[in-house]
Amino acid sequence: MKIPFNKPFIIGKETEYIREAVLSGKISGDGMFTKKCHAFFEERYKFKKVLLTTSCTDALEMCAILSDINPGDEVIAPSYTFVSTVNAFVLRGAKIIFADSHNDQPNIDENAIEKLITKKTKAIIPVHYAGIACNMDAIMNIAKKKKLIVIEDAAQAIDSYYKGKPLGSIGDMAAFSFHETKNIISGEGGLITINNPKFIKRAEIIREKGTNRSAFFRGEVDKYGWVDIGSSFLPSEIIAAFLYAQLEHLDTIQEKRTKIWQTYYAELKTLETQGKLRLPVIPDYATNNAHMFYVVCKNLKERSALIEHLKKNDILSVFHYLSLHKSPFYKKQHDGRKMPNSDMFTDCLLRLPLFYELNDKDLKKIVGSIKSFYGK
Ligand SMILES: *Cc1c(COP(=O)(O)O)cnc(C)c1O
Repeated sequence: MKIPFNKPFIIGKETEYIREAVLSGKISGDGMFTKKCHAFFEERYKFKKVLLTTSCTDALEMCAILSDINPGDEVIAPSYTFVSTVNAFVLRGAKIIFADSHNDQPNIDENAIEKLITKKTKAIIPVHYAGIACNMDAIMNIAKKKKLIVIEDAAQAIDSYYKGKPLGSIGDMAAFSFHETKNIISGEGGLITINNPKFIKRAEIIREKGTNRSAFFRGEVDKYGWVDIGSSFLPSEIIAAFLYAQLEHLDTIQEKRTKIWQTYYAELKTLETQGKLRLPVIPDYATNNAHMFYVVCKNLKERSALIEHLKKNDILSVFHYLSLHKSPFYKKQHDGRKMPNSDMFTDCLLRLPLFYELNDKDLKKIVGSIKSFYGK
């Protein structure tokens, strides 16, 4: 039997809650299950304000609108990330100033940021790669000094912390994903958190097609109408019902993923000691939410050979993120600076299967297969 890279799963009352939502007579957005999800996030992580969105991409688009990005404004983001991180800002006319990753892990090198700031810089977008925190004190200090907005791309970072603070609670705002490849899933789905209170009111409006409908339902205004730009960023109750059932088991999911992650790490440690590959690095200030397990191969040729070897053993592994400064869409607009670490992760990083239902037997097979590759 083939071992897939990822597998969506049902852990509790997902289908029961979807049925309940439908029978309740309201399956458009902001019903009972959306409220339950909002309460969960606000209680567990003490986020000031949260709103479910249809995806993390949409949450990032909301962030770009809230940051009041205008054509010509600059935003600083890592090159080694998913397109949505920056595409949301490009849609508003921003110029992306890419920054390189650290050498020992893919997060943005905070020391590379300050010299990229110009009069036009409006925001910094740290991405917590693999759910591992960026150096947020350093980034927030730069932002404070230069009066910049910080938007955390926390797509992979649910239930992960920086010096005891939940990721997504540190920047002015943040975006999470519940895409089927993330820890907690709802097929497609996302969340925006707003930590800077000055953005809260407008966030509700933007999410509701530019109308003040949310304030109307709370009885704060006596009629609702078109007051700003916006779009339809709110998910239906069917999505929220699925998500809430997953949230009820968040600790179980995290426990299982962490166990898988730790097994990978312990089993592959000798290969790292022998200098054959590199394993994830978790800085002292960061926790590990077991979103992803990856290895860093010596070069592209070796990674391709390892992928082939695993495939022959019916194991699907994947690489991702072709440096965005070299992408067909953006390379002409990039200023020509080189990003050696981002390019290195593009060529050398390999993600191993990690999903809730991955069992011990499969895990053993994957580890054995990697060992046999390096043993020969
Ligand atoms: C998954 C992901 C996204 C996009 O999430 P969607 O919910 O699929 O829109 C954005 N940024 C990063 C870093 C991601 O991993």
